[in-house]
Amino acid sequence: MKKVLLLTTGGTIASRPTQQGLIPDITCQDIIQMLPVPRDNFLIDSRDIFSLDSSNIQPEEWQFMAEIIAEALPHYDGIIITHGTDTMAYTASALSYMLQNLDKPIVLTGAQVPIEQMFTDAKMNLQVAFAAVNMELPGVMIAFNGKIINGCRSVKVRTLGFDAFESISAPYMGEVFADGIHIGSKNALSAEKRMFKLKNSLCTDVFLLKLIPGTSPDIFDWLQQKHYRGIVIEAFGMGGTHFERRNLIPKLKKLVANDVSVVVCSQCLYEKSDLSLYEVGRRLLECGVIPGRDMTTEAIVTKLMWALGQTQNPTEVRQIFDTNYAGEVTL
Ligand code: ASP
Repeated sequence: MKKVLLLTTGGTIASRPTQQGLIPDITCQDIIQMLPVPRDNFLIDSRDIFSLDSSNIQPEEWQFMAEIIAEALPHYDGIIITHGTDTMAYTASALSYMLQNLDKPIVLTGAQVPIEQMFTDAKMNLQVAFAAVNMELPGVMIAFNGKIINGCRSVKVRTLGFDAFESISAPYMGEVFADGIHIGSKNALSAEKRMFKLKNSLCTDVFLLKLIPGTSPDIFDWLQQKHYRGIVIEAFGMGGTHFERRNLIPKLKKLVANDVSVVVCSQCLYEKSDLSLYEVGRRLLECGVIPGRDMTTEAIVTKLMWALGQTQNPTEVRQIFDTNYAGEVTL
């Protein structure tokens, strides 16, 4: 029998219709009543920690969640967190860094349709989450639509479809078929046994900029005036930016010289960025930007918040980006 802690945070899975639209209102006790898992296999404790649409889940909530998980971890075989889907990939990525060296499953799940409504996907998603705990898959993951995805590789790709999440540039950790769950890749780092550590300091002075053809260099002056310590740039293709007419390069050099950590990734969802391939990327590398490689934007933004929460030193931030903590990057 597995001992599981179910934490609820709100989201569609726990929402009811109101005059103001869907609002999270359903408690963990209500969810447990509707749980479609065999009671003989699991001993379930539960706790409502928030009742928020996930658009309102921010770094402070991630820190609180990480604390609750760290406290509970020694007493459970796994922890399941129900969460809105909109920012679930950010939460999963942030937890992947804050909860270091996990040897138990922390599974986030949610639904596109509230658990009390017809056609809800909540029950299947919860079943897969419990199965992930049963299989003792270590790490932070998302269970959704019959897939188990490494949390720091997950991205929400659909607003309505039940296959709302994909595993980006990494295989699924598990997939449900008619004959059961097929285990794919275990988190590559799970084999190395190290001591679990809670490291939940974060810096929220991080900005994400998606380039458009013609982005004005002035935006970087503004970001510097506002004292952002970290900037993520979603650049074009392999990772390029314009330097003709509106030359962004001198501004980026100035930011890096002023100890701002700048990470450059691609606007393309799939596959890696490689700044060394084209001149437009090499000029960025010469500014001293950090390459985002094949990480998702969600994994980069949260890694930068986490890195800047651990150190004031930009060289150490770069070293953190040269480290694979939870399978988030191919080095
Ligand atoms: N707006 C909801 C949320 O993220 C969407 C969902 O849960 O699917 O909380």
